[in-house]
Amino acid sequence: MKKSIDALPLRNVVVDDPFWKRYVELVRGTVLPYQWDILNDRVEGAGPSCCIRNFRIAAGEIRGSFGGMVFQDSDVYKWIEAVAYSLCMCPDAKLEALADGAIDIICAAQQPDGYLNTYYIINGLEKRFTFLRDHHELYCLGHLFEAAVAYYRSTGKRKLLDAAIRFADCVCGIFGTGENQIPGYPGHEIIELALVKLYRLTGDKKYLRLAVFFIDRRGQEPLYFREETERYNRDFYWHDTYFRYQYYQAGKPVRAQTAAEGHAVRAVYLYSGMADVAAETNDEELLEVCCRLWDNITGKQMYITGAIGVGAHGESFTFDYDLPNDTVYGETCASIGLVFFAIRLFELTGDSKYTDVIERALYNGIISGISLNGTEFFYVNPLEADPEACEKDYGKRHVRPERQKWFDCACCPPNFARLVSSVGNYAYSQSADTFFVNLYIGGKIQADIDGAAVIFHVQTEYPWKDKVRISVEAKAPVGFSLAVRIPGWCEKHCLKLNGTAARYRIHRGYAYVSRVWESGDTVELTLDMPVAIVGADPRVKENVGKAAVMRGPIVYCLEQADNGTGLHRYFIDSRTAFESSFEPGFHGGTVVLRCRAKYLSGGGWEDGQLYRPGRSPEFEERAATWIPYYAWANRGPGEMLVWVHCRL
Ligand SMILES: [Zn+2]
Repeated sequence: MKKSIDALPLRNVVVDDPFWKRYVELVRGTVLPYQWDILNDRVEGAGPSCCIRNFRIAAGEIRGSFGGMVFQDSDVYKWIEAVAYSLCMCPDAKLEALADGAIDIICAAQQPDGYLNTYYIINGLEKRFTFLRDHHELYCLGHLFEAAVAYYRSTGKRKLLDAAIRFADCVCGIFGTGENQIPGYPGHEIIELALVKLYRLTGDKKYLRLAVFFIDRRGQEPLYFREETERYNRDFYWHDTYFRYQYYQAGKPVRAQTAAEGHAVRAVYLYSGMADVAAETNDEELLEVCCRLWDNITGKQMYITGAIGVGAHGESFTFDYDLPNDTVYGETCASIGLVFFAIRLFELTGDSKYTDVIERALYNGIISGISLNGTEFFYVNPLEADPEACEKDYGKRHVRPERQKWFDCACCPPNFARLVSSVGNYAYSQSADTFFVNLYIGGKIQADIDGAAVIFHVQTEYPWKDKVRISVEAKAPVGFSLAVRIPGWCEKHCLKLNGTAARYRIHRGYAYVSRVWESGDTVELTLDMPVAIVGADPRVKENVGKAAVMRGPIVYCLEQADNGTGLHRYFIDSRTAFESSFEPGFHGGTVVLRCRAKYLSGGGWEDGQLYRPGRSPEFEERAATWIPYYAWANRGPGEMLVWVHCRL
């Protein structure tokens, strides 16, 4: 079951379209330099990160105590990984010099035996690996591996990779079921997928074996976390909740898990690692578990924006069809993790149901995480917001009506940077005889198909326009299949080859055009994208009698800046006609929708009356303006609403 589909080397993908180039450039030119300043505590109005300072203290360069969260090291690792991807797409000597400098600072803190975690170096190495449940040591290590692999692949520089390998070798000796070994696993997963990355780069099987160990030990009796909790007499915050050890996906063996539970980011990172291990060890059963968990998430626990993890208490999954819009957590990182999980399952199956979700999350619940100018971020991504409720309702205090400059727990901004900088890895894939177009991102892609160099030129103004042109450039004719994803939202498409109807077969949601291709051959795909009024399964209590508005992959919302207050009083119906217009000056250029809607009037209600016996509601007609959900909260705080009353 070895996976047959792979991403292309990132340097072979040049993103060049109006939509994504702006994000890629925003990350390179603004987000990464800004985040470097943050990591160095140089941004006014943003609390100190202490991240780089911790490494300097750990290296003995300066004196001081550890600052920030126990997992603060991971912020710079994610930043380096994002820089690595960005350098692949666009060389930038200044950014590379910053990353080289960061790597020098990190490596200076490494201990003689390879250990590298500033919290324990500063606070006492004798305590290391004694609090796997909550102290994120292995999580930070996972991010170190990811950064090291990415930076080596991007620049050829080994310094961070060598440091990572030294730490990995140290950890391989410490964990296991042998005498004097620790039979534990991380409280916050990611090292599993990171170990597989290290294995794929080095070919050293002990890294794969450790990933298998961490996955298979998880949740086995005697439960390591329970033993650790008792041995060190630690508090257990989740003791009196229904989660207990399932908060860490460790309440039962992973193969016995049937629904996504617990902390959402941890869950999807674990599942991604499980998919990697399944691929490398031909473990059909583990793949089945992954598919089952995927189906549970996307079929019962995912928002229309691709947000997951509804519960603010524990940043967690709750239960099937529990999808409230105004108290949702929907951490940006959780949707990013869902993309990681999705691409792995796609590469194992070639099924568009996974790449459909990548598109849903990417164009909605992930890019909503960043402001237009690239320096403010959402951690929580609600589908309904009211600034007064955020301020005065304790149950909604996690929801912010405006993006923040930074967070004490700053996982999301660097995670966003590393995903956007590597978006080419999700857009295109290839197998031995097929080139896959998963996302419609314009640019130039160089592929090696069976030894032949083939260049694909993709031209599109997606997601605003419905046409995608893919032309082939090759020195000599070459036979392969071009597989283009027909999005799940698209009810009518048209595929032409060199101007006439193409012959193709649909397999798992992809249209395969198979032939001997010659230079200049061009496929033109048209994806009809009328405005769609979308309903939710009636088991989702909050959305009964409501609808969301979508156009293509984009989820729309009403915002106070266009529509005034009281957005919950707007009603549309199934015959509502929408006008779409591209507005180049709005949020970097977006399609804005307009319609006539009914607005529940206050006519006849007196102040203080609050209730009265039934009387037909009175409506006034109003114009309603809809903007892409991801663009909300860029014009000051105000109400926002995705699911609107709808009379079908
Ligand atoms: Zn996060």
